[in-house]
Amino acid sequence: SETWEELPLAPPDSIFKLTAAYKVDTFPKKVNLGVGAYRDDNNKPWVLPVVRKAEQILANDQALDHEYLPITGLPEYTTGAARLILGPDSPALKEGRVVSVQTISGTGANHLAALFLSRFYYHGAPKQVYLSDPTWANHHAILKNVGIEPISYSYYDPKTVSLDFDGMTNSLKNAPPRSVFLLHACAHNPTGIDPTQEQWKVIADIAIEKNHYAFFDCAYQGFASGDLDRDAQAVRYFVERGVPMLVCQSFAKNAGLYGERVGALHVITPTEPAADRVKSQLSVLQRSEISNPPSHGARIVSLILNDAGLFEEWKRDIRTMAGRIIDMRKELHLLLTEELKTPGNWDHIINQIGMFSFTGISAEQSKILTENAHVYLTTNGRISMAGLNSKNIRYFAESLDKVVR
Ligand code: PMP
Repeated sequence: SETWEELPLAPPDSIFKLTAAYKVDTFPKKVNLGVGAYRDDNNKPWVLPVVRKAEQILANDQALDHEYLPITGLPEYTTGAARLILGPDSPALKEGRVVSVQTISGTGANHLAALFLSRFYYHGAPKQVYLSDPTWANHHAILKNVGIEPISYSYYDPKTVSLDFDGMTNSLKNAPPRSVFLLHACAHNPTGIDPTQEQWKVIADIAIEKNHYAFFDCAYQGFASGDLDRDAQAVRYFVERGVPMLVCQSFAKNAGLYGERVGALHVITPTEPAADRVKSQLSVLQRSEISNPPSHGARIVSLILNDAGLFEEWKRDIRTMAGRIIDMRKELHLLLTEELKTPGNWDHIINQIGMFSFTGISAEQSKILTENAHVYLTTNGRISMAGLNSKNIRYFAESLDKVVR
C-alpha cells in the first residue's frame, strides 16, 4: 500500500479549533473565552513593561552572542527560577538538594519530568501517574507519550461546583504506596478551584504516610492571587514537610512569554549526592531531546529575577494582570446576582482563582452560547476570565443569563 495510506487523520486540538472558529466569525459582539492567554481591557495581548525593558537591555548588550547554552540551561536563570518557586530561604536550596533544568516552557518541564520518572522511578511497578479529574488535557497526552498510564483521582464535585475533598483524600489513601500524584500548585486548570491551606496539610500528611511522590505543575505563580509567594505556598509547604517531589515551572503566563518557551524542572532530592545523580541523568535525557534549551527568553527572565529593581517592576505588572482578572470576576458576579438576578448560585465565580472559571453550565448550554451568542468557550463550561473586559462583560453576562433561564 501507499505510504501513510493507513494513517488516520487526527482531530484538531479543541482549543485551537475554537480560536479558528472565533477568528472567522464576523459577528461584531463575538467573545473568545477559550484560550488561556492574558488580554488587556482592549482584548489585546500585553507585553509586560518590565519585559520590554529587559529586551532593551539585551538589545544593547554587545557582549551577548548566540552560542549554545549549557545542556541544563542558563545557570543564572535556573537558580533564579528555583529561588522564585522554592523561596529565597529554602533549606533544600541551601543544602544543595535541588536539581534545576531549563525546559521548553511548562509543557517541556512536564514532559522531561514524566520521561525521567518513566525511566527511573518505578523499578518494575506499573508506570502510572494520578491526575485530577478534570485536568489540563495535555497532561494525559504527555504521560502517554512516555509510556505512563494516566489514572484519575477525584477532584471536582459538579453538584457543589467545588473541591471534592473527601474524594481526593480517598484517592490518595487508596492508591498503592509510592504512587505519583500530579498536583496543580495553584490556580487549578480547568476548574480554578484549589485546596485550602488546611486541606494541603491533610494531603501532605497522607502523601508522607503512603510515601507518595508529588508531581507539582506550577503554570500560574503570581498570576493567580497577584502574589508570587502566596501562589507558591503549597509547593514550599511540601518541601518543608519533606514530601518527595518535583516542580514543573512556566513563565508563559506570569511573564507573558508564551511564545518564548521559558520553563524549568526542579527536582527536590533528599541529599546533595542524590541531586548530583539526578542532574546527571536529566542531562543525558535533555541532550537527546533538545540538546540545549533556547537562550532569549531565559535571558529576559534571568535579568528580571536577578535585578532587584526589575523584580519589583515585574511584581507590579503581575498585580496589574491578576488584578484585572479578579475585577472581572467581581463584576461578572455582580451583574449575574444583583442586576440580572440570574437563577442559581454564582459565588464560585468569585471563589475560584486564576485564569479560568468553571461556570458549571452544561455542554449543551455551552454549545448554545457559542451558536446563538457567538461566545466561544470549551464545552466543559470553562471560561478564560482574561477574555472578559469592560466592553464585553455585560454582553457575556446577559448571554449567560439567557442560556441558563
Ligand atoms: N500546565 C498547566 C496546568 C497549564 O495550564 C499550562 C498552560 N496551558 C501548562 C502547564 C504549560 O504551558 P506552557 O507550555 O505554555 O508553559
